[in-house]
Amino acid sequence: MARTVKCPSCGAELTAKDDNRDFMFCEFCGTKVRLDDYRETHRYVDEARIQESKDAMELRIKEMEQERWRTEDANKTAATYFKWLGIVIVILVIAYIICMGLGIA
Ligand SMILES: [Zn+2]
Repeated sequence: MARTVKCPSCGAELTAKDDNRDFMFCEFCGTKVRLDDYRETHRYVDEARIQESKDAMELRIKEMEQERWRTEDANKTAATYFKWLGIVIVILVIAYIICMGLGIA
């Protein structure tokens, strides 16, 4: 039984004969047209690819967010560290000045 397929390249309606096996050539533009439900195959592949890239993008966004949180945490830790370091240095300087004043150092 002959059936019609649409050329994926130029959109022409093509009649696939029984003696065509799994592909034929478009008589208008010469594109190789798959006859084993190429539209289903193409749509399935495209959707799988879209889903795949969407998943990859979501994963990348999550990674970037985690990376940002990690950087912010590191910055906070560093800020806290330097704040306490500054306080300790000030205390040591004051202690040194006091000791100098008392004639101990
Ligand atoms: Zn064509």
